[in-house]
Amino acid sequence: EAKELGRNSHAVFSPHIAELQNWRSDLLTALRSGLTENRFRLVYQVQQNANSLAITGVEALLRWSPPRPDLAARPDQFVPLLEQSGLIIEVGGWVLHEACRQAAAWRDQLGERISVAVNISSVQLHAPCFVDRIRSALGESNINPDLLELELTESSLVIEPAKAAATLAEVKALGVQLALDDFGTGYSSLSYLTRFSFDRLKIDQGFVRDIFDDPKDLEIVKAIIAMGHALGLEVVAEGVETVDERDLLEGLGCDSFQGYLVGRPGKPEEISSMLGVGLL
Ligand code: C2E
Ligand code: MG
Ligand code: MG
Ligand code: MG
Repeated sequence: EAKELGRNSHAVFSPHIAELQNWRSDLLTALRSGLTENRFRLVYQVQQNANSLAITGVEALLRWSPPRPDLAARPDQFVPLLEQSGLIIEVGGWVLHEACRQAAAWRDQLGERISVAVNISSVQLHAPCFVDRIRSALGESNINPDLLELELTESSLVIEPAKAAATLAEVKALGVQLALDDFGTGYSSLSYLTRFSFDRLKIDQGFVRDIFDDPKDLEIVKAIIAMGHALGLEVVAEGVETVDERDLLEGLGCDSFQGYLVGRPGKPEEISSMLGVGLL
């Protein structure tokens, strides 16, 4: 009913807003029982090394199977709800365990290094149990800690930078790798790059998308790569969709690529067969 109204009367936007609020609240209710109803799963997107062309790692990305079709949602729709409600602490804990379990399975199947990157939101990072969650995910899966990489965004570090730095130092001491995700879109100062001990920088896909059309974006990408390398960080380009983009980024010195060109996010068995083919 609200849907009808919203669609037919462009001038009246409140039905739209009400409809959206109802949808969000229904979605949140459904998300609350998501863990017990096994509605979350992980897909993985491969990362390719620029020099060796080998697949050296994957990023775990959360997906949600809704109990009703109208509650289907993308991560950029449901992750903010998980964050606002605090549910991300439990769901994110599950993500960590599941990603580490999968990393152990690939280690056993393939006998080569495939690291798994997990996205961490600031709510999780600042939860008192965070470091324990990492420890237990590592302990249960028995993987080498450097097979686990945590991806953080600049915006999740600005809230309480001193506390974030202390927590990340603890995590780093366990041997876990750290990546700064969506780099270039946040609000942090460049001093954040040295204040936190990151191993990798991920150039935001927005810069990659416009690299041929917007000369400024090209310059930003060049600057990010130069700065990353000067600080001893590996630089990963996200959202690489075309051969031309990859070639350009490789020429600029990017160390690895992630994007639809190398592979779309896939189920673990799809990734396994992709990795298996690479071995032949
Ligand atoms: P992100 O961490 O920056 O992940 C990359 C996003 O870009 C993914 O979207 C991926 O599917 C998409 N992508 C990859 N290659 C390409 C490409 O070539 N072109 C385009 N257009 N897109 C590409 P996805 O899976 O929808 O996730 C969106 C965001 O949701 C993630 O951005 C991350 O911030 C968040 N997210 C996903 N999973 C989790 C999770 O387990 N925990 C938390 N806290 N956040 C998550
Ligand atoms: Mg990420
Ligand atoms: Mg990203
Ligand atoms: Mg993002």
